[in-house]
Amino acid sequence: MRGRELRGELDAFLAGTEKDLVAFRRDLHMHPELAFAEYRTTQRIAERLSAVGLVPSVLPRGTGLICDVGSGDGPTIALRADIDALPLQDEKDVSYRSTVPGACHACGHDVHTTILLGTSLFLAQQAAAGLLPGRVRLIFQPAEELPGGALEVMAHGGISGVDRIFGLHCDPRVDVGQIGLKSGPITSACDRLLIRVSGPGGHTARPHLTADLVFALAKILTELPAALSRRVDPRSSLSLVWGRVEAGSAANAIPDDGVAEGTVRCLDENAWHAAPDLIKALLESVAGAYGVEATMEYNRGVPPVVNDEVSVEMLAEAAERALGGSSVVPTQQSLGGEDFAWYLESIPGAFARLGTRSPDNGVTYDIHQGTFDVDEAAIATGVRFMSTTALTALWEGAPIRPVSSLA
Ligand SMILES: [Zn+2]
Ligand SMILES: [Zn+2]
Repeated sequence: MRGRELRGELDAFLAGTEKDLVAFRRDLHMHPELAFAEYRTTQRIAERLSAVGLVPSVLPRGTGLICDVGSGDGPTIALRADIDALPLQDEKDVSYRSTVPGACHACGHDVHTTILLGTSLFLAQQAAAGLLPGRVRLIFQPAEELPGGALEVMAHGGISGVDRIFGLHCDPRVDVGQIGLKSGPITSACDRLLIRVSGPGGHTARPHLTADLVFALAKILTELPAALSRRVDPRSSLSLVWGRVEAGSAANAIPDDGVAEGTVRCLDENAWHAAPDLIKALLESVAGAYGVEATMEYNRGVPPVVNDEVSVEMLAEAAERALGGSSVVPTQQSLGGEDFAWYLESIPGAFARLGTRSPDNGVTYDIHQGTFDVDEAAIATGVRFMSTTALTALWEGAPIRPVSSLA
């Protein structure tokens, strides 16, 4: 373990700023902004960073920003927070309830933003004291929920020159003070599939003169998922599940078209990349066997977030340093999606789950619900954890100076 003990410095920092950070989060919570409309949020963050001498660079659309702390030699570590809210109604009865009808920070991105702001202020102090062995890039990313904000950040050079990236997400099923970690995939890919089949219709008395389209569609519906399960590594958990099917209008008439829609979920990145071509080939072969024409629309979601092992070790070390040895808990891969995955397709990094459940009231909220809320002690926990993560990664990544240069 390299570096120094940060707990005392973080205690002193948070004694002076925790209340203010909670107020900042409540202000964001009262004024949620949807994907690519986070103008006020972006301005609030920029004002606070500028006030301590940092130089934020707002993305061209005016939502989201990037800001570097520290400079000089050494590695560059990025920390990312997402800043957008969701298009749903706030159903909570609290003083900081959303003031915008139909918009709510129901995914905790107000908390992520506040944690990264607190971390930025602490790291700015460290940099001013000459204690930052490298550079930290702060990424306040817009539009995670769309998704696509990560691609916007990357298109504007957000991760160029970055050696490693870290992010976190509120987890309402984990107690505040704890950090959920997992190596390898931690979220899933989720895509949408729409297929259309067509062929000559006719009377059900004479199916041989038609393409017997309903029968062919039924074959596709069952054969496609079955064949897929035999063509990909079962560990990838690639699954095609239908949610809608439509064909025909009368009991004795064979229709000439039909559609089916479903989702493709996948835990593995390689299988995700290969999925569209494979599904297309299987669809054509089944449809061909029954003499129907088939086309498909494949709409990409996000790839799975695949955590790099070394980065997860850094997160675990940081959690132990900042929050104590029992703070790390194992977490499972969820079937949800998260656009942080796009960064990890280019550079190593890891994504952690931050406990936000209050052990006192025993309520387990769920994200993407109008009732979602957090134990605000998670903000200080997050600042301790993210600050220590950045410094741990810088210490681990910094070249060890040869003894001669110390003379
Ligand atoms: Zn969300
Ligand atoms: Zn989220």
